[in-house]
Amino acid sequence: MLEELSAAVDGLLSVDAHGLSDGELSEALVGLEAERARLDAAEARLVAMWDARKAWAVDGARSGAAWLAWRCRLPRAEARRRVRLARWVRDAPVVERAWREGEVSAAHVALLARACTARTAEAFARDEKVLVDAARQLRFGEFAKVVAYWSQHADPDGAEDAAADQVARRQMHLSQSLDGMWLGDLVLDPLGGAAVAETLALIEEELFAADWAEAKTRVGDSVTVADLGRTPPQRRADALVEMAVRARAAPPGGRRPAPLFTVHVGYETFAGRVCELANGAVVAPGALVPWLDGADIERVVFAGPSRVIDVGAHTRFFVGGARRAIEIRDRTCYHPTCDRATRLQVDHVQPWAAGGATTQDNGRLACPHHNRLRNRRAAPTSPDDGEPP
Ligand SMILES: [Zn+2]
Repeated sequence: MLEELSAAVDGLLSVDAHGLSDGELSEALVGLEAERARLDAAEARLVAMWDARKAWAVDGARSGAAWLAWRCRLPRAEARRRVRLARWVRDAPVVERAWREGEVSAAHVALLARACTARTAEAFARDEKVLVDAARQLRFGEFAKVVAYWSQHADPDGAEDAAADQVARRQMHLSQSLDGMWLGDLVLDPLGGAAVAETLALIEEELFAADWAEAKTRVGDSVTVADLGRTPPQRRADALVEMAVRARAAPPGGRRPAPLFTVHVGYETFAGRVCELANGAVVAPGALVPWLDGADIERVVFAGPSRVIDVGAHTRFFVGGARRAIEIRDRTCYHPTCDRATRLQVDHVQPWAAGGATTQDNGRLACPHHNRLRNRRAAPTSPDDGEPP
């Protein structure tokens, strides 16, 4: 049964990779990824049959996962995952078909299996095709968001329970070692974590700017990150200490700064349910409640899926309302290969120097890398259009 597959892999292993062009290599990677998915689906089909027959019992194993872990030298968690997916996908015919066609991967199937619980099974059977279509079309992060919203919708109580459970799992350890060093680790829920991470990132940026300025006076214009006086982990540690210093410097009873993080809610008419942090993490509406006391509510009016408010300003830079409107509308870097959602700049689609206006229609979000890159090369407009011009 496996001889032909084995021969095909032998053929692949002996291909002269040096003889392939960049385009051929890229195409081969995409094709291989689809074949890998098909192979996983074929394996799952056999695992399901083998597991249903309890063919593993003859060797005295307690379960199929135990047998697989022993016989194939797999990590136990991986063996359990394979058996679970194989069992689950038998009852999800649309998912299984797409998997066999190589249109979705084991990672997609695993995410769908996790979303399909006893409480959501009925809704899953109804919406299976819609979810599989999302898996086929969207990049993985976007698909994961669709599944997260779907889960909230199919089982609102379950989503709130899961969010409460995440908050309950928060913890932090900080202790001093015998030689006086401090060691720590922490687990934070999505909102608390975002508040800490975004505050730290702001201070880190300040420290980076200071390091850069210092290195420039030392090295001159040829300065690179290698010339900086601190490594990124050292800078992060210093940012945490600086956060403590600033906390003590704040006057008692002073106004708490806001916002510590941004949540996008509403916008249902155009985009379906939205309740996510600015970094793209989907959160349960109930998780926001404890934060509402100290939150600044920012009201944004959408006049269409891609129009917040028209702020036509004849200025060189996107500032104030025009900038905020684009941040809220786009949320991630414009470049199709990139889904960065933090520390973005607002960029002109048609450059200002080429007569582009500073308006919402001519603005988009770009990460620092793609803001620089756009000056050198046009972005591919679709996955099939990735060849540099
Ligand atoms: Zn980018």
